[in-house]
Amino acid sequence: MTIRETVCCGNISNHPSSISIPGNLKYELTCTSCKTNYFDNRLKCDSDNGLLRANYRTKKLELKNVPGIGKFHDWLPVNDLITTDAGPVTYRSTELADHLGLKNLFIGFNGYWPEKGAFIKTCSFKELEAFPTLAKSRNSGKTLVLASAGNTARAFAHVSAMTGVDVYIVVPGSGTSRMWLPEKPRDSIHFIQMGNKCDYTDSIHLAERLSAAPGMQAEGGARNVARRDGMGTVMLDASVFMKRMPDHYFQAIGSGTGGIAAWEAAMRLVDDGKFGKGLPQLHLSQNLPFVPMFNAWKAGRREIIKDIDMPEPKKLIHEMYADILSNREPPYSVPGGVYDAMCATNGIMYAISNNDAKKGVDLFEEMEGIDIFPPAGVAVASLIEAVDAGKVKPDDHIVLNITGGGVKRVERDYHLHKIEPTAYAENANVPLEEII
Ligand SMILES: *Cc1c(COP(=O)(O)O)cnc(C)c1O
Repeated sequence: MTIRETVCCGNISNHPSSISIPGNLKYELTCTSCKTNYFDNRLKCDSDNGLLRANYRTKKLELKNVPGIGKFHDWLPVNDLITTDAGPVTYRSTELADHLGLKNLFIGFNGYWPEKGAFIKTCSFKELEAFPTLAKSRNSGKTLVLASAGNTARAFAHVSAMTGVDVYIVVPGSGTSRMWLPEKPRDSIHFIQMGNKCDYTDSIHLAERLSAAPGMQAEGGARNVARRDGMGTVMLDASVFMKRMPDHYFQAIGSGTGGIAAWEAAMRLVDDGKFGKGLPQLHLSQNLPFVPMFNAWKAGRREIIKDIDMPEPKKLIHEMYADILSNREPPYSVPGGVYDAMCATNGIMYAISNNDAKKGVDLFEEMEGIDIFPPAGVAVASLIEAVDAGKVKPDDHIVLNITGGGVKRVERDYHLHKIEPTAYAENANVPLEEII
């Protein structure tokens, strides 16, 4: 289980969009706003705020003969094959499907469940982002910095432990209980723990400062195509399994990056031609009381207005059951972001109560036989709401992205190691010398 060496893609930048991808490159980056093409490894357009999107040379997906995420190599922004057994898994639901009266409910399971071939040992789909992101970054000579409320931290720490690639991980106080690994941590993992009053956004701000230091590099979050295209493999795996795209895609969101990724993956599948023509409808769910994207979308706005859509954010976040879904600066308004994904797919947003999310967690475990994370319970609850409201029909092909699960199952097979902090930061403004 290694990431083989990867090469970033050249240094030529800012070519006009009429120029095709140079011969040795697997993909170019195209600004979703101004359509400028870039042939270097970058996170931002020179002229505007639009997300960059990978435009792969290969238009028809051919699966590689490896067990995990690497089989989608054609549409991952890495040059060397990723050979881990961790990857997305799709199966057809029977129990939950019957319970909901659905004929074609497919589960995208992203966690640990060996009986189903699911080997994501850090138990969330963040590992699908971590493998390509660290593979893409390892040859840049810089050290990756990221902020995380827990699942991303664990996923990147795990890939760092497997490969020895250095990573700095800034975690808010509330996230530390999620900092465990299925193997012994290595020195390549630099874990900075923030004070208890700090939330995910504070850790983002500290990570931003850290990534500006010499030798450091921001991983870029939603701006990083390796993260989006890694998450997009859930849509790819489901469509390959079903031999068609789904009609509906359900996922709980905090940043919404997974929703953007599902849309982008579906556009590639449309271009491929073998999986149907219509884009799946996105059904994205947030957890009450912190639902800024739901509020903005309901009001028909591209902009999130803080005072209206998320007043007193810290208080609201504190009251969430699935507190990992608490991004205060999601890529919602940016060109190519969540708002555009929702418009393009005629999407629907849901605001799910803590109680319904908990019921979703319990129902899924009871019906399907595996424990799932709170955000996945939010997605289950949104599916129930959609069925009750007639937003999906009994025969429709539905993919329910179970974004995390199987912790109880992994505990049976592995001894879990706690990752100890290498530094402590009381707030986002501490001197960097104290934490590097
Ligand atoms: C990060 C995360 C989400 C939300 O994903 P985004 O698409 O980035 O908003 C949902 N569920 C779990 C388990 C996660 O770790």
